[in-house]
Amino acid sequence: MLGGAVGSLVAAPAVVTAALAPGAPPPVPRGAAGRPMPKMEKELPEPVGRKVGWAVVGLGQFALNQIIPSFAAAKRSKLVALVSGSRDKAESVAERYGVARTHLYDYAAFDAIRDNPDIDVVYVILPNALHPEFSIRASRAGKHVMCEKPMANSPAECEAMIAAAKGAGRKLMIGYRAHFEPHNVKAIALRKSGELGRVRLVTSDHHRHIDQSVPADQWRLVKALAGGGSLVDIGIYSLNAARYMTGEEPVAVAAQVSTPADDPRFREVEDLVSFQLRFPSGAEAHLSSSYTAQNIKRIQALGTKASAVLDPATEYEGNRLALVTETGREKVKVEEASQFAAEMDHLSECVRNGAEPMTPGEEGLRDVRLIGAIYAAAEARRWLDLNPDGSLAG
Ligand code: NDP
Repeated sequence: MLGGAVGSLVAAPAVVTAALAPGAPPPVPRGAAGRPMPKMEKELPEPVGRKVGWAVVGLGQFALNQIIPSFAAAKRSKLVALVSGSRDKAESVAERYGVARTHLYDYAAFDAIRDNPDIDVVYVILPNALHPEFSIRASRAGKHVMCEKPMANSPAECEAMIAAAKGAGRKLMIGYRAHFEPHNVKAIALRKSGELGRVRLVTSDHHRHIDQSVPADQWRLVKALAGGGSLVDIGIYSLNAARYMTGEEPVAVAAQVSTPADDPRFREVEDLVSFQLRFPSGAEAHLSSSYTAQNIKRIQALGTKASAVLDPATEYEGNRLALVTETGREKVKVEEASQFAAEMDHLSECVRNGAEPMTPGEEGLRDVRLIGAIYAAAEARRWLDLNPDGSLAG
């Protein structure tokens, strides 16, 4: 009985064979059969072999929690190599993500990436002070570079990184993920389309508690490695937001720094920074960062027609955008997507088509110059004028 049933299934005609009227849809198979490609709701990824190959340098908190898992959502980028001072950790990460053991490097052997044609891009996710060395070595090895923010601890180092990439004919992009985060992208689009009117004021605050017991926070409290305190680490989001939410470059800066003298965490770097920027149109920005206030990551752009409120603005996910107009406050619907995959795919696309990345080394250099000007203004206790390139005038 059973055999008969199976036999009759196998013998069933695969398709309806009646003659088709012209324009009629193709016949539908009655049994298991292949069908045409369905209409795709999302773009298909590049074939694995054509994806751009990335090496991640430094397997710390950000690399392991955010960046490496995001390759799964990337369409044009794939993880092919790891660089770490810990062989055990590198091997265990490599096993999880299918990276070949032949594609693991330590810092001393890093330059051997030159001989690995699978590596197109090197993503530098090291403590800030190490960004210049490894970005420059990667450029000299003929690789494109994505470098985390802040780009470096001094403008001169940023300039050396830019020169090395240009000299090698390779791309250099700074990991300003907010430029790829869908809510920030939408807010920028609202500003550019004129829906906000003229932006008069940007306020942005980035604050979190720093915890000395967490390894990722330990080097952030050492000036030689971090370059500064909350300003360089998270205040840079407020600074960069003031620029992309006005679409202007600041002409003057004032700042105040406050660091609790009795808190042993802050022997070398600052805690609270409040800073103000003036823009050519007369717009202003009131910005802040600290390592002691509760977790806040928000951006507001107050325009003559409407205000964009991002709160939270720069979380890894779950950001929100509202538009405030004369008639009230309304949530703006924005589809979630991985900002990390988007930023990596952007650089991969630039590598493929030769375009300049949206956040090149020059963008990182400008912020590093402005950070220097903010510290100088705090020291001077007065407004200081800025050159068009973000450096101090005079
Ligand atoms: P971690 O301390 O967690 O990771 C840094 C890694 O760098 C370490 O795990 C280690 O990797 C390697 N390393 C090499 N030398 C040193 C050293 N002397 N001291 C400490 N680590 C060293 O830091 P994060 O991942 O939080 O930050 C890394 C970079 O990423 C920073 O520039 C930071 O600003 C940026 N970042 C950016 C974020 C963003 O949203 N864009 C968010 C968080 C960080 P190994 O053991 O493999 O050698």
